Amino acid sequence: MRFLILSDIHSNSEGLDAVLTDAAGRYDAAVCCGDVVGYNPDPVHAIEWCRNNCQSIIRGNHDKVVAGIEDLDWFNPVAQASARWTMKQLADDHMNYLRELPKGPLTVSDAFQIFHGAPFDEDEYVLTPDTAEECFSHLESSVAFFGHTHVQGGFFQKHRRLGGVGRPGPGNSELVLELETNTMYIINPGSVGQPRDRDPRAAYAIYDSDEHLVRLRRVEYDVAKTAEKINAAGLPDALGLRLFDGQ
Ligand code: ZN
Repeated sequence: MRFLILSDIHSNSEGLDAVLTDAAGRYDAAVCCGDVVGYNPDPVHAIEWCRNNCQSIIRGNHDKVVAGIEDLDWFNPVAQASARWTMKQLADDHMNYLRELPKGPLTVSDAFQIFHGAPFDEDEYVLTPDTAEECFSHLESSVAFFGHTHVQGGFFQKHRRLGGVGRPGPGNSELVLELETNTMYIINPGSVGQPRDRDPRAAYAIYDSDEHLVRLRRVEYDVAKTAEKINAAGLPDALGLRLFDGQ
């Protein structure tokens, strides 16, 4: 089975639609590792797409704050402003959808796990080998996908040896990772709506569980249009500017 793995869509319609066009025909089921909303100006489109299309989905920290599960005070001022703005755009059924999103880790189709931050703490950032190692000791499957860092790539562990998973370079749209036996993987598909790995292209992954491979993909989208909509909505300028740099 081929899974479309999305994370950190963050209300970015142009990013999401570009990913879906690129991924059309390449997957059988869609999965999301959280942060459907926050930062960008189209929360309704992101929620409705996930609600109608995701076979499995978990909550992210922005989903929790917008749904009122967690306090706004933990956020920096820009994230707070976007969360407050997002709350005003959503109808009750959208809010209920966010409120009822399950907490990770979640096992998908008995085959792999998804979590937002780390399997032991949904708000932890997995950026270093030390944190990755802790994740591997908590995994219940050999393959897992996560989000939260907005950095595409990840880590593998084979016979106590830890290594990194890369991402497509600037001229490439895809990096194919062939999964090895007796090896565990935690893979971040990257962020659809606000990449932070210095590549402004929207990021996602396809996991082919029959072929044992993961395709990490990048797609260009109309960043200028998203930035214009951010300004028109009265959201902080910084949210549009960072999209051009992918950070
Ligand atoms: Zn996020």
